Amino acid sequence: MTDILSLDRPARPAARAPALAEMPSLIGLTRDEMGKALAEVGVPERQVKMRVSQLWHWLYVRGVSDFDHMTNVSKDMREMLKRHFTIARPEVVEEQISTDGTRKWLLRFPARGAGRPVEIETVYIPEEGRGTLCISSQVGCTLTCSFCHTGTQKLVRNLTAEEILAQLLLARDRLGDFPDRDTPPGTIAPAEGRKVSNVVMMGMGEPLYNFESVKTALLIATDGDGLSLSKRRVTLSTSGIVPEIYRTGEEIGVMLAISLHAVRDDLRDMLVPINKKYPLKALMEACRAYPGLSNARRITFEYVMLEGVNDSLEDAKELVKLLKGVPAKINLIPFNPWPGTNYQCSSWDQIEKFADFINAAGYASPIRTPRGRDILAACGQLKSESERMRKVDRMAFEAMMIANHGADD
Ligand code: SAH
Ligand code: SF4
Repeated sequence: MTDILSLDRPARPAARAPALAEMPSLIGLTRDEMGKALAEVGVPERQVKMRVSQLWHWLYVRGVSDFDHMTNVSKDMREMLKRHFTIARPEVVEEQISTDGTRKWLLRFPARGAGRPVEIETVYIPEEGRGTLCISSQVGCTLTCSFCHTGTQKLVRNLTAEEILAQLLLARDRLGDFPDRDTPPGTIAPAEGRKVSNVVMMGMGEPLYNFESVKTALLIATDGDGLSLSKRRVTLSTSGIVPEIYRTGEEIGVMLAISLHAVRDDLRDMLVPINKKYPLKALMEACRAYPGLSNARRITFEYVMLEGVNDSLEDAKELVKLLKGVPAKINLIPFNPWPGTNYQCSSWDQIEKFADFINAAGYASPIRTPRGRDILAACGQLKSESERMRKVDRMAFEAMMIANHGADD
């Protein structure tokens, strides 16, 4: 079986980059912010705009992480930039590669003005014709969804825009997605054939509680003069922070995934407690108003299958009713157990019945794909995994579900 959830130990020794200096990074700044930062350290006003586009190209088209590789920037200017800024990647504490090519990286970010140093994980899922990167937005989470392991951990801190973006840059480095160093300056890397073709904000944390940093990072990731990811290939998953869903539509414009998990307010209040603040009616209104929806641009509704809790055919029926009129896809997620949880994953039989009902109502169901069985098997298998592995495995699993059935091409 393609065992995505049982990753091999490192296939090669964990890579170690030098620790980042405690100086500000030029990564993750908007063009305006970068311009201001350059002016503050003495770049002449008349040069600022030109320097920003030069740097933008080197950082996001060429993916350089060393000022000395910026061959069309004068040595003096490079030295000056080096004295004030860093563009180094985070430290890769561990890299693991699965038999099916799934990779995960444990990354360490230094404190650098954003609280204490933190470690986070990023997962890459390769597939036929595409590859999906699952990115974290926070360390821990302030929300307390009762079935979610992250929800039992306090929020350590929000990730900065740099740290969110660094996960993508690092993955592109490691997968060889940036052009060779000797490619002439100005070369645009072709979007076709890239290893990271899709991004899902489905790692740790609630992205809409870190709105500004997530927005900045995603706008840079989808900037046509830089990393150039299509907004249709970027999916942001939220537990349902209604005001920021409107803002996401207006200000970011990426694809949306909603962690629905229940179709009645009383149950959703228990599973996803933010529902008390933003109940289903308000959530569905925000979904209906999401700009640009069509059959080709649908909202993904994530639904974790919890035995005897939300997995009855009655629930399936109400789910279909709730989503009526919304261009939607449904991702059924077998519950991934963790130590201390009272929930259990629904039986395969029940998941199939649920999926069949949804199928009959016209929604494609991920469980029916050949990989479904492997995933369900892995769901039980996770019981023996270490705590950290489990969290990452859920990320890997989630990203794959979305890659398979969620995000559009
Ligand atoms: N905070 C955001 C994004 C991260 S969680 C959100 O809630 O949408 C990504 C997905 O994994 C969410 O749909 C979440 O509900 C789901 N999830 C969390 N814990 C899980 C578990 N133990 N088993 C299966 N899915 C889980
Ligand atoms: Fe936070 Fe999402 Fe987990 Fe809820 S499901 S606790 S919002 S990470």
